[in-house]
Amino acid sequence: MSESLFSDASQRLDEALAYASISEEAIERLKLPRSSLKVSIPVRMDNGELRIFPGYRVRYDDTRGPTKGGIRFHPDVSIDEVQSLAFWMTFKCAVANLPFGGGKGGITVDPKSLSPFELERLSRGYIDAVADFIGPDVDIPAPDVYTNEMIMGWMVDQYGIIKRQIAPAVITGKPLTMGGSLGRDKATAMGAFFTMEATLPRLGLSGSPATTTVAVQGFGNAGAIIAELLFNAGYKVVAVSDSQGGIYRREGLDIPSVRQFKDSTRALKAVYCEGSVCNAVDHETITNEELLALDVDILAPAALENQITASNARDIKARAVYELANGPTTPEADEILRGRDVVVFPDILVNAGGVTVSYFEWVQNRQGLYWTLDEVNQRLKQKMVEETERIWDIAQTQGISQRTAAYVHALNRIGDAVQAKGTKSYFTGGGD
Ligand code: GLU
Repeated sequence: MSESLFSDASQRLDEALAYASISEEAIERLKLPRSSLKVSIPVRMDNGELRIFPGYRVRYDDTRGPTKGGIRFHPDVSIDEVQSLAFWMTFKCAVANLPFGGGKGGITVDPKSLSPFELERLSRGYIDAVADFIGPDVDIPAPDVYTNEMIMGWMVDQYGIIKRQIAPAVITGKPLTMGGSLGRDKATAMGAFFTMEATLPRLGLSGSPATTTVAVQGFGNAGAIIAELLFNAGYKVVAVSDSQGGIYRREGLDIPSVRQFKDSTRALKAVYCEGSVCNAVDHETITNEELLALDVDILAPAALENQITASNARDIKARAVYELANGPTTPEADEILRGRDVVVFPDILVNAGGVTVSYFEWVQNRQGLYWTLDEVNQRLKQKMVEETERIWDIAQTQGISQRTAAYVHALNRIGDAVQAKGTKSYFTGGGD
């Protein structure tokens, strides 16, 4: 399976190629990463034992600027996965028109099995291992699955210790007190929300939020917050899940209570039959598979890759899928969904809000001037709505899917940057 994630990811290039104005040579360049680093990180555990963790950082493409992308801590992290995620970041940054290329990092670890001190030693150890590969003008990490602002804080501190300088712009998603940006914590979900609001009327799904049903898979930084934003805007969020399973209520869930419960117990499962939420509302417990197959208007996968596949795509009943996770739909599933008129809004657009506010954070670090939450959200909204509309128009005029349109949009921008750096035309008499 690990071999196929990257081949699935890069298959998107071939699909978009026919519609984009980019040279074959530039496409060839985009088929492999610029550089990949594999490291091993020794960590002294609390019991005195030494454990070695494999870690990775991939800089996929830097044609448009320094590479940018998160660091993931997960037991399934592999070089193939990190490379695929770095590939997606390249296109995501181009979709959002950020002056960045794509990168990604990760450590193969179950972070939930570590103590806080072990986690801190591992995070600092990762930076010790990659410090010469990253930098504010080279490659800028950020949070991803199972990493958060506390971990980014340790990492930026470690980078400063190694380089003997305070360099906040080397990592985004930091704590506010270390140069983080207001709004970065909610930015992925907020960006997805702006994309939804810009597209739902075009799908004829905007009758009224109160009659629009939503199922959200994943209850981390993206899933929990999009559920809450939609709930606050009056949408009927009927199901949510975490890695353990999900809960469903036809009349809609009270998301703030679910969040509060999850925060206090660390498990959604705990909502099932203990305490106030369980007592206050009736709900059914469902599996993640059942959640994906619910008869809802909007399905929002916000967990991991490869969730909607050839084996369950025919069960999807949602009218629209908004990918808050990276890579949740396989290419075969995409085909099946398209045949069934399910509109899929792709990850490289829908979840681009996170990296967009990371960019704002980097800009603020470099300016030394910090923006209000309103300024951040207004700029984010403007960007998300503008790029969503452009991709919508490309899809309409070319008669292609939203995903292919997003790749075409990104490829056109990457192609322009390749061109600007000098290409074949100089050698064939095409240049001045
Ligand atoms: N990990 C997030 C993503 O996949 C954010 C990356 C960033 O902020 O650099 O888009």
